[in-house]
Amino acid sequence: MLTKDYIELEEKYGAHNYHPLDVVISKAEGVWVYDVEGKKYLDCLAAYSAVNQGHCHPRILNALKNQAEKVTLTSRAFRNDQLPHLYKEICELTGYQTFLPMNSGAEAVETALKAARKWGYKVKGVNEGSAEIITCSNNFAGRTISIISFSTVNQYKDGFGPFTPGFKVVPYGNAEALEKAVTKNTVAFLVEPIQGEGGVIVPPDGYLKKTYDICKKNNILFIADEIQSGLGRSGKLFAFEYENIRPDVVIVGKALSGGFYPVSGVLSDKEVLGVFHPGDHGSTFGGNPLAAAVARESLKVLIEEKLVEKSFELGNYFRSKLSAVKSKHVKEVRGKGLFIGVELKPEAGGARRFCEALMDRGILCKETHEDVIRFAPPLVIKKEEIDWAVKHVEDVLMMD
Ligand SMILES: *Cc1c(COP(=O)(O)O)cnc(C)c1O
Repeated sequence: MLTKDYIELEEKYGAHNYHPLDVVISKAEGVWVYDVEGKKYLDCLAAYSAVNQGHCHPRILNALKNQAEKVTLTSRAFRNDQLPHLYKEICELTGYQTFLPMNSGAEAVETALKAARKWGYKVKGVNEGSAEIITCSNNFAGRTISIISFSTVNQYKDGFGPFTPGFKVVPYGNAEALEKAVTKNTVAFLVEPIQGEGGVIVPPDGYLKKTYDICKKNNILFIADEIQSGLGRSGKLFAFEYENIRPDVVIVGKALSGGFYPVSGVLSDKEVLGVFHPGDHGSTFGGNPLAAAVARESLKVLIEEKLVEKSFELGNYFRSKLSAVKSKHVKEVRGKGLFIGVELKPEAGGARRFCEALMDRGILCKETHEDVIRFAPPLVIKKEEIDWAVKHVEDVLMMD
């Protein structure tokens, strides 16, 4: 079967909720992916940062295989011998007291929102039914009905109401706006330390610290959604570390899986996740031994291969190279670590055509928010591979 045959099948039988580039991938290793016709591409998306460790990392693959031969699912009705290790290792790595495992990122966000509401009622003393959670404009936190209820992207909401009440949205990057929006019923502030889907938006310096201080002053939980920015992507283990804060709640997903098997979760101290009692919340697959084994090895690879440090150094290198590209189309190059956005001017005619041209040259990027090309390769990328990519990016950005 050729590329066009796969696309035909997909278009015929699949729901059309995505608009993928027309490349059909059948194999991958490290930063490289191969299509069904044998053509090789440098992956500059890394599955939205779920494969920070590189495609099919041999150590994670081994952990998956070994565990798959022993036991894969026990449900939480029984205990398994992997989850306790994951609890200990992720808590020791991040400095939080407690972890709650889920599967997808959206589920982990939902879990954090539920924990925050319950904390508001049981610990803070907000009147039952009146808890408010403040979020930011241009946010992305997943696709469930409650999460899209606070989206500011029309398309994400169109046709999906009625929405979940209890959310307020303030402009991202504006700490005063948060301060003004706080009421006695505010229980949490949910924020992405760097907005990924929003277009790799880095907030102004000091914003996270200021909003964190506002939360502390008003007894509000600061919840960092690090599903995309976390686990090395930004050049730190977590992007909030750039401002020396310690969020009350941290949400992780994506790269916790090494790209192998969906696994996400919520980190906090006992005061917050301690509000959950048996039966309050759960998931059939959450915390299963296969996921736990994969997550354990994914974290070990991240640390032992120094991928966080690599992201910091090579990110600086990649960004400086991209900033030096002279093109009439480029408005701004921004980001932290290997989390990079190249924003094009409105008159460039959208980022899609540049992504398509890059694909023809063997580089896979995906446009985000019309005008931004995101460069977020697996963190195992080498300097020479960055040099090679920049040459092509330079050529493509010279198009009319
Ligand atoms: C991807 C993402 C999510 C949702 O994760 P899913 O696994 O797609 O549900 C939530 N928050 C952020 C910041 C993300 O980038």
